[in-house]
Amino acid sequence: MIRLNALDCKLKDIILHIRKLYRQCPQQNPLFLMVCPYCGAKGTCRPRGSYERNLVAFSDGKPEVLRLKVPRVQCPCGKSHALLPDFIVPYLSYSLPMILFLLSDYFSRRLTIRGICEKYLVNVPLIYRFKKLFLLHKKQWLGIVRDMDLSASAFTEELLTGSYAQFHGAFLRLTAYSFLQSHQNPD
Ligand SMILES: [Zn+2]
Repeated sequence: MIRLNALDCKLKDIILHIRKLYRQCPQQNPLFLMVCPYCGAKGTCRPRGSYERNLVAFSDGKPEVLRLKVPRVQCPCGKSHALLPDFIVPYLSYSLPMILFLLSDYFSRRLTIRGICEKYLVNVPLIYRFKKLFLLHKKQWLGIVRDMDLSASAFTEELLTGSYAQFHGAFLRLTAYSFLQSHQNPD
């Protein structure tokens, strides 16, 4: 899997033109700059089909299911990779901004659990699953001492208002997986 930068704007500002961001992705991430995560070769990946997947995004105040075509590329080393924009968390059906908006409502206590379920059409276990992953990755990213200093609500706000592309790249280099990704990539 190769992660593509799409979120070069503040997450808060995109509210959420996911389709548009998705269409811009290939121009922003040309093949000649792409690095194979398996062998490290640069510019060697070539298009190799695609697959379709659903993504639940939050736009116009309600969740919406988008059908996206995810391109795949193959490197001469033999490995093929899905090209996944940074607003998609691997193995999750919900867009990253949607999860962060939901967690922002949760940690800031703007909404009750019931209110969150109704607004985002999610169930309670899913909210706690997102919360658990978020707190785990927050601690990994900040370290134990800074983690205790920065509230979950403040950190969510930082992610929504700062440069997500920069954060995501650094988090990926630190942990070798994407923020809020629940398990490792298979290769
Ligand atoms: Zn390779």
